[in-house]
Amino acid sequence: MPPIKENVIIYANPDHCLSCHSCELACAVAHSGGHDMIEAIAANLPLHARNKVVSVDGTAMPMQCRQCEDAPCTFACPTGACRQADGQVQIVEQHCIGCKLCVMVCPFGAITVRSETVVEQGACTNRGVAKKCDLCVDWRASTGKTAPACVEACPTKAIRMVDLDAYRIALREARAREIAKSHRHMRVQF
Ligand code: SF4
Ligand code: SF4
Repeated sequence: MPPIKENVIIYANPDHCLSCHSCELACAVAHSGGHDMIEAIAANLPLHARNKVVSVDGTAMPMQCRQCEDAPCTFACPTGACRQADGQVQIVEQHCIGCKLCVMVCPFGAITVRSETVVEQGACTNRGVAKKCDLCVDWRASTGKTAPACVEACPTKAIRMVDLDAYRIALREARAREIAKSHRHMRVQF
């Protein structure tokens, strides 16, 4: 098979994170089916953020799925609900049985299971579905935005959607600039 492009990721910079949780609120609203928080609360829509700002050792770090290439969640899923498709790891909710194997193997704690009680044919049971960052594909299509809701909401631009090719180019240029600068001060000639 020919090589494919790496999955796009959401990159978070802890140096710029204020721990305001705006990204979590935006994520919950974007996936609620409502247009804004007031509408979602008024209509009793499900508010379930797929990201989490984690505060540890004096640092706040927004955490979400890293869209792994060799994703353990896709191997653990017994139904094929969790799978690689269209440049990201997706969970096809209709196929999810809420078994939580994906939750247990994800190294980043990026998956949660939203559960609700349903009554079917007289039997009371739970319907659980695994949720994780989906890069706001549906939300972006419906709003015309190019970036996910968390990226749009972050007041300090601590979160960005990153194409790794562009990231690598910026990294190489930064290092090249530093090396070129220090080279001018070198005394030795080869
Ligand atoms: S849910 Fe976890 S294991 Fe699966 S792709 Fe995201 S970060 Fe990787
Ligand atoms: S909870 Fe759903 S997505 Fe996760 S492993 Fe089980 S069936 Fe697959």
